[in-house]
Amino acid sequence: MTEEYIANYAPVFDLHSHTLYSDGTLTPAELVMRAKEKGVNYLALTDHDETSGLDEAQKKADQVELHLIHGVEISVSWDNNQTIHIVGLNIDKNNQALQDGLADIRQERIRRAKKIAMKIEKCGIANVWEDIVAESGFEALTRTHFARFLLKHGHVKDIQQAFKKWLGKKGKAYVSGHWIPLNEGVKWIVDSGGQAVIAHPVRYGMTNRKLEKLVLDFKDAGGVGLEVVGNRYSANERSSMASLARRFDLLASVGSDFHSPGNQYVELGRNLGLADHIKPIWHDWQMANN
Ligand code: AMP
Ligand code: MN
Ligand code: MN
Ligand code: MN
Repeated sequence: MTEEYIANYAPVFDLHSHTLYSDGTLTPAELVMRAKEKGVNYLALTDHDETSGLDEAQKKADQVELHLIHGVEISVSWDNNQTIHIVGLNIDKNNQALQDGLADIRQERIRRAKKIAMKIEKCGIANVWEDIVAESGFEALTRTHFARFLLKHGHVKDIQQAFKKWLGKKGKAYVSGHWIPLNEGVKWIVDSGGQAVIAHPVRYGMTNRKLEKLVLDFKDAGGVGLEVVGNRYSANERSSMASLARRFDLLASVGSDFHSPGNQYVELGRNLGLADHIKPIWHDWQMANN
């Protein structure tokens, strides 16, 4: 490798992705292989409230020489039960407090999923719960599982419609989640040696003022990062999130939030470039030149 090559080497980071251990559709090995094919050098696997995919992902990452970041995406509640997702990067998955906390959230997910199933069944659709469990088991049950169920049985034309008509806030089968408080989720991440990042800040429909309040509470709790770039962010969103990160001295993270190859708008490692003037979350990571 020449020095010039090393100087020009710009690794591709994708620090937000899912497998079928939560609501993705690929196995951890398939996810890692796809990331490699798409040119990703540093991939974080961040399943919802679950870390069981990391061992398999690490094995494949070692084989194909990709840097796997151990991650998780924790569901938390903030300010009158609004759901926020916090990505943890470089966590220690063997940390007991983290694992106990995630297990509790998955129990809450099962309780909520049963209520969602009942609501759908009340609308005249049978065997919802049985089908969901047969398809997914009890691992990190999410609304996405219900969206796929509704699509599979022809009750909606696509996943978007499933959220709009059934599972979203105004949907027929909406059940709000009761997650742990924001500061607790951030603390689990920090105490396990990880960095906490606010996931997809542009997706919460918040005013700038509200977002700033979230950032302040998040920083008070020990959070350090903001996902300033995602596959589907507009140019405006990219620049306003970069400016938010700069103003509040947060490190910038980037992530596709990849779930499944079926989605034409989202791909691992695609369109995740970071502006020069902003400090990336990986600025002090130990980097390898490959
Ligand atoms: P849950 O954590 O169970 O509330 O489910 C949230 C997950 O549902 C997110 O992580 C997304 O993967 C998915 N999701 C939420 N809203 C939408 C939407 N409008 N279209 C497609 N997927 C969605
Ligand atoms: Mn998801
Ligand atoms: Mn999320
Ligand atoms: Mn996600």
